[in-house]
Amino acid sequence: MKKHNFSAGPCILPQEVLKKASQAVLNFNDSNLSLIEISHRSQPFINVITKAKELVRELLGVPSGYSILFLQGGASLEFLMTPLNLMKKNGKAAYTNTGSWAKKAIKEAKNIGNVIVVGDSSSKNYNYIPKNYDIPDDIDYFHCTSNNTIYGTQMKYFPKSPTLMACDMSSDIFSRKIDVKNFDLIYAGAQKNMGPAGTTLVIVKNDILGKTSRNIPTMLDYRTHIDKESMFNTPPVFPIYVSMLTLEWLKELGGIEKIEKINQQKAELLYSEIDTNPFFVGTAKKEDRSNMNVCFLLTDDSKKELFDNLCIKAGISGIKGHRSVGGYRASIYNAMPIESIKVLISVMKKII
Ligand code: PMP
Repeated sequence: MKKHNFSAGPCILPQEVLKKASQAVLNFNDSNLSLIEISHRSQPFINVITKAKELVRELLGVPSGYSILFLQGGASLEFLMTPLNLMKKNGKAAYTNTGSWAKKAIKEAKNIGNVIVVGDSSSKNYNYIPKNYDIPDDIDYFHCTSNNTIYGTQMKYFPKSPTLMACDMSSDIFSRKIDVKNFDLIYAGAQKNMGPAGTTLVIVKNDILGKTSRNIPTMLDYRTHIDKESMFNTPPVFPIYVSMLTLEWLKELGGIEKIEKINQQKAELLYSEIDTNPFFVGTAKKEDRSNMNVCFLLTDDSKKELFDNLCIKAGISGIKGHRSVGGYRASIYNAMPIESIKVLISVMKKII
């Protein structure tokens, strides 16, 4: 039975990417060796990581002066690497608190130095994106989360930081156009729009580094990974390879401009059903709704069993909301076909 995978991450990847990836595990480029048993220093793998970096640069329009890294430790380790690399000794940073991941980023930064929270939607269960807050001049950097995976809210505009600008783009990178030159540090776990879990994409402006006058442990210092081109330690070869394939797929599809339009269309379709079907209600403030994670509740809990069973029958998987919000969350990342969204809508229409 065909499955419609609405998981929040790890999540749906293009079928053709999965086919190519599984082939490479058995026999990579007709070498009769598996991709995961060749040396990361061999030319065939160097070609993979080089291509992956080139695709990131091309698709996002990364200007010169920025490094592109494939690291490990997930976006969660970037919560710590960000302050270690950007916060001066006795320094200060400003953060927005827009969801559970933002909160975790704040917690890590507080271990390193002073943090002020400049926009906070926690009192409303993170159902909106704070706006019109002041970011003071005396900070080392400002940090925000572009898309709040659990609560289904997304920043449609980015404020200007008076100093450095850092952003966790884990759940919407490659889904829409961004102007990289307005950011100094961008990071994203691969496991939404880029590939499998196991690598983290970091885009960092070179000349912001080395200014904290603190001793940074080697593995946590971005300069280590820039100097060694993401090969200071053995890189996660499989996630990097699958990321390369997914980015190739995106390029062939027409790149960011094209996928942004498709994502907009998919999200509008689903939100419009939520807004017109009396049995469902969206949880995020309309103007801040995410085009990646669509969160909604049933208006009548007695319909839960019916809806859940209809979903199972239709092959819909992964739409249970995060345990901190409840309800439902349909994650409709780049690889989610519009047909699957139509299947979900047809199930929603069956509730009477
Ligand atoms: N930030 C955001 C916005 C996320 O959605 C996630 C995980 N889904 C993380 C950070 C944490 O990523 P990881 O599990 O790769 O550490």
